[in-house]
Amino acid sequence: MGQASKQYINGVLNRLNKQYPDMVEFQQATKEVLRSLEKFVDRHPEVIEHNLFELLVEPERVVKFRVPWQDDAGKWQVNTGMRVQFNSALGPYKGGLRFDPSVNESIIKFLGFEQIFKNSLTGLPIGGGKGGSNFNPKGKSDAEIMRFCQSFMTELSKHIGPNTDVPAGDIGVGGREIGYLFGQYKRLQQYDSGTLTGKPLEMWGSYARTEATGYGLVYFLQNAVEDRGDSLDGKTIVVSGSGNVAQYAMKKAKDLGAKVLACSDRGGYIRDESGIDEELVIAIKERGGSLAEYIEEHSSATYHTDESVWTIDASYDIALPCATQNEIDGSLAKNLVKAGVTYVMEGANMPVNDEGLEVLTEQEILYGPGKAANAGGVAVSALEMAQNAQRLQWDFDEVDQRLQDIMATIYQKCSKTAEEYGEPGNLSLGANIAGAEKVLKAMDAQGLV
Ligand code: GLU
Repeated sequence: MGQASKQYINGVLNRLNKQYPDMVEFQQATKEVLRSLEKFVDRHPEVIEHNLFELLVEPERVVKFRVPWQDDAGKWQVNTGMRVQFNSALGPYKGGLRFDPSVNESIIKFLGFEQIFKNSLTGLPIGGGKGGSNFNPKGKSDAEIMRFCQSFMTELSKHIGPNTDVPAGDIGVGGREIGYLFGQYKRLQQYDSGTLTGKPLEMWGSYARTEATGYGLVYFLQNAVEDRGDSLDGKTIVVSGSGNVAQYAMKKAKDLGAKVLACSDRGGYIRDESGIDEELVIAIKERGGSLAEYIEEHSSATYHTDESVWTIDASYDIALPCATQNEIDGSLAKNLVKAGVTYVMEGANMPVNDEGLEVLTEQEILYGPGKAANAGGVAVSALEMAQNAQRLQWDFDEVDQRLQDIMATIYQKCSKTAEEYGEPGNLSLGANIAGAEKVLKAMDAQGLV
């Protein structure tokens, strides 16, 4: 039996490898998920009978388009936009838009694929999708950002809607961009608050959506730590990144008594033995500044240029990678081991690569995969959709309480499923199986569509 499952999975992965040889990140993500589903396939013969994995790895639709826009000098510029509508078995496609020069089809497909399982784990009715553009928002004026967003939405508006596909933010897309995108959608279609999530509050966004991914990450961590009879009080943490996820993860970690020693941006990292002042980090990032500015106000802190925060010479308990994919490879993972880390929880999507994962899993390190640990953002997005559909806006505490319950349930699901499959503590296996099970059941029940 095990052999047949393995063969089937390898067959699907080989086909992907032949068909999309250049899509490195997409192959990495599909390999990680499908390989961990072997025991699940053993118990579910319908996966092979109905060839469900071939359906699962192929997006339902990929929309790719030109985004022409005019810069402040009057020059015409062109970027590529795309939306991968990966899987709608559980609901409308749901997932963020990423504006970053690194964006390509492989990255958006990997993110869209991960989103299917993440969204399934939230227990809310949302399918998986992702989109974005290779547009670089860094250094652009407000007017340029607005013109770009308007042009992007001119095409995207034909493919989305509150019951079809509901985009949100990701790297490079925050409240400002969502505002401009929404304005253009409204102009072209009609006012429908349910078309995008992560909206500013006065546009019927949800309270706690800004905080949701970072807070959710720490709630997930808290559940894991408490499950081991321990607490976050007095723990030391290193965070990578200083964007939306990192900012609110640092804030919640501090609220729960932990100390964040360091965080980073593209230029380097800051180390502050008295605990990172996340309010200052937020202020610096809001004005588009560099973390180098942090030491101007905190003279005891140090700034380390052009170095990964994972090279930090310190011992600490918890690593929260919140920057981007593949930031921790095998050799950086070894640094984490040397630092004495006991928990690694992913705020970003796939920040630990295959080799890094091998290093972590050889040790007694509890690893929380992004699709579970960072699901709080999209979970509150689904709550935003629910509020928009009711034409209501819940208060902060109500949303925050629901977020806490959702993250506790996700942790339990991952942990219990790992146990059921004979690998207690393997949260990655638990997340993949628990996430996939529901989607595959729904796909199978819907027949060939
Ligand atoms: N971009 C976020 C994620 O990776 C949020 C997506 C959403 O809210 O739709 O899950």
